[in-house]
Amino acid sequence: MQTSVHKEAPVAYIVSKELVQVSSLLPSNRLRSMMVHSLVNLMGLLSPGYSNNAKVQVISPSRASSEALAVYHSRDYLDFVLDPDNSHPSSATQAVNGARLEDLGLEDDCPPFQGLHHYVPLVGGASLTAARTLTAGLAEIAICWDGGRHHAQKSRASGFCYVADCILLLLALKRSSLPPLMSSSPETTRKSRTMYLDLDLHFSDAVSQAFYTQNAFGTSQILTLSIHHSSPGFFPISSLSGLPQPSSPAFDPFTLAIPLHRGASDTTYARIWPIVENLFSIFDPDFIVVQCGVDALSGDPCKTFNWSLGDGVGSLSWYIGKIKSLPGKKLFLGGGGYNSPNAARAWTYLTSVLVDNPLPLDSQIPDHTMFPSYAPSFTLDVPAGNMQDENTEAYLTSVENCFQEAVVALEQRLNVR
Ligand SMILES: [Zn+2]
Repeated sequence: MQTSVHKEAPVAYIVSKELVQVSSLLPSNRLRSMMVHSLVNLMGLLSPGYSNNAKVQVISPSRASSEALAVYHSRDYLDFVLDPDNSHPSSATQAVNGARLEDLGLEDDCPPFQGLHHYVPLVGGASLTAARTLTAGLAEIAICWDGGRHHAQKSRASGFCYVADCILLLLALKRSSLPPLMSSSPETTRKSRTMYLDLDLHFSDAVSQAFYTQNAFGTSQILTLSIHHSSPGFFPISSLSGLPQPSSPAFDPFTLAIPLHRGASDTTYARIWPIVENLFSIFDPDFIVVQCGVDALSGDPCKTFNWSLGDGVGSLSWYIGKIKSLPGKKLFLGGGGYNSPNAARAWTYLTSVLVDNPLPLDSQIPDHTMFPSYAPSFTLDVPAGNMQDENTEAYLTSVENCFQEAVVALEQRLNVR
């Protein structure tokens, strides 16, 4: 008789056939969702016996209601994107709605697409379902690879993102009541705290801006930290994407960013990890939300960073392993990633890390309809390339110095009663 002794708390994996079908229509990432969940399935990660240490629960997402989406989005935006008649970019629709489409950001890289009126409530609902599994005590870790749309704004689509699922779930976690045992603080009645860590190549502009509290006093329940590339003209342009400037009146120690130069490698990511860990230990969050966009990996068409999937020191999976070992409940989201086979490789491997039974990186991709896309390696690994890392010793030292000051400001604000 086979017995499974699950030593760790359950891992919730958010997926449904409908979610995969609709996510696979996203114009910037056609069929990516299908590739990701197919590979996760083919590798057996959702099978009951896959891990002796973590029980995986597959949870079907609920659709977010219009009211649930309106907790952040404007009515005007929702009225348009939830209307089935606006869900296809026919020339007649374009002509009638031209000015409105522009106002709502539904042009250029965010065109209306067939299924948009299903996509917005399903992806928003998937991330909210993930958050609910944590707040309801059903899981310690939740995974929602179809979420992580960190550029979507209150009244506008932006940067391939049509629904602000990250912001919606952070607001849900903020509102959640906190069981006393979840807080390591002696003040068991304190409000929940959530650290949002964004690993996507691009700055988490919409999320950071939503929780930015210029000139505020006291403690914020949400701390955002984005690690990304920033350079003149690189999307998105935001005054919040630079290094912390604690002497500036605009500085908010709960809205933090680590911009990196081109070619950022495992070595650079390993170097900045202590900053992340230090912020974590000072902020002492109850929840950690990680946006795991994979466009910083080597091989992405963005060709900007040279991060490897892992498992070496400083790699993406090394980061995820480190985050997994921190106290608190964790929610892992997807995001960018425009080499779809590599996104499938990455999120499959990270799933295996999170369920505590990492696959070998040289695992062969099983034969299936999408197998040819995995050429030429046909294995799971996403190794680093040859790009030069332009993050110099002098620059990384300046990053560390900025954060030493930022941490002092953060501690001061956390100590305000
Ligand atoms: Zn991105």
